Amino acid sequence: MDYEVAIIGGGPAGSSAGYWLAQAGHKVAIFEKKAFPRQKTCGDGLTPRATYWLRQMGLEQDLHKYHFYKGLRSYGFGRCLEMEWPDHPLYGNIGYTVTRYDLDQMVANHAEKAGATLFTSTEATKVDISRDGLEVYAHSKSQGDFKGSASQGDFKVSARYLLVCEGANSRIGRSLGVTRNRQWPQGMAIRSYWESPRHDEPWIESHLDIRDSNHTLLPGYGWIFPLGDGRVNIGVGLLDNKTNTSKLLDAFLEKIADSWQIDINAPCTAPTGGRLPMGFSLSPISGHNFLIAGDSAGTINPFNGEGIAYAYETGALAAKCLGNALDGGGAASLARYEEELNNNLGRYYKVGRLFVRAIGQPIVLHTCVSIGMRSKPIMKQVMKVMANLM
Ligand SMILES: Cc1cc2nc3c(=O)[nH]c(=O)nc-3n(C[C@H](O)[C@H](O)[C@H](O)COP(=O)(O)OP(=O)(O)OC[C@H]3O[C@@H](n4cnc5c(N)ncnc54)[C@H](O)[C@@H]3O)c2cc1C
Repeated sequence: MDYEVAIIGGGPAGSSAGYWLAQAGHKVAIFEKKAFPRQKTCGDGLTPRATYWLRQMGLEQDLHKYHFYKGLRSYGFGRCLEMEWPDHPLYGNIGYTVTRYDLDQMVANHAEKAGATLFTSTEATKVDISRDGLEVYAHSKSQGDFKGSASQGDFKVSARYLLVCEGANSRIGRSLGVTRNRQWPQGMAIRSYWESPRHDEPWIESHLDIRDSNHTLLPGYGWIFPLGDGRVNIGVGLLDNKTNTSKLLDAFLEKIADSWQIDINAPCTAPTGGRLPMGFSLSPISGHNFLIAGDSAGTINPFNGEGIAYAYETGALAAKCLGNALDGGGAASLARYEEELNNNLGRYYKVGRLFVRAIGQPIVLHTCVSIGMRSKPIMKQVMKVMANLM
């Protein structure tokens, strides 16, 4: 075997799994089709759960140079509430905003330093799986200027196990039979960056009364996440695939432009959007010699659209199960992955799916938000539940 584990995708799920496997002494390769640093459409918000996983990987010091924020400022129905993160015994109460341009390079480099081979500018194009192992076919666009990169062209590697972490558009995952349960929710979100004199505020901001052109309240929210570098990340996320998110973002920008002193016609980059596969809506996420983690497994939190923490968490859990399999546990260790994921998050995500279904009814949504915004103690509890910090 060239490698014990081949990981497809060098985002949060793939790099975290690569780090944990390399740290445990396993021979692991990560295939990433882009060259780092690279843009990734995201709100760039790290909650205490995400910062916990970065601390676990030994990256706490690296976070200090980025923008720290203490909690959430929420607007809705003419009211505003400021709520600090609860002081959770495990996760703590610290949040950061870090662009994915910086964050994903940081974690991928960390995995490489731990001993993982990182093939950047290298797309995995096909996987051949047999009973005893597998082969990953890849195409490299690299000029050879990145450490660990293959030179330009097609090549293949063999591996004992495969971990798919391709993100929301998982081509290899689909080729392994992974499909989405369409009865379950999927979100859509869009964002860009604008310059603002309020770029270093200590709160991330959410606006809960997002409405369509008929003034109907929509299940979702608009956000402004200050980055501390002169820019703010502004976006909207929705649990409804019928609404045009670009138009919704334009309407949201009109609403907040004055208070954030932004020129809505001058985004730093054109807005880009993407899908939010959530609530374990994809399956199967394991086979006799492969596992799926992060967005490719639909692990985004249905309550708030947060995915980075869960990509780190499922990457770490997949690494643990793959490590156990390599240490003699075989396929039975891979079967434990789904079980452990369900133990950790299954019930929470089940409630999350029901929550999404309930707030899909405008009357339920209206009642919940209007009552919640009248009471800070209620909203603080809601925030704890939505960020999975109970
Ligand atoms: C607009 C928007 C805003 C969001 N805001 C937030 C937020 O503020 N906070 C938060 O926690 N989450 C947020 N999310 C969700 C978050 O971005 C994802 O949950 C997270 O990126 C998932 O990580 P991942 O590693 O599973 O996938 P990704 O981050 O998508 O990484 C997958 C990687 O795999 C690579 N890849 C794909 N296919 C191949 C292949 N065949 N070969 C080689 N490489 C491949 C890709 O280039 C990519 O680098 C947001 C999402 C969107 C769309």
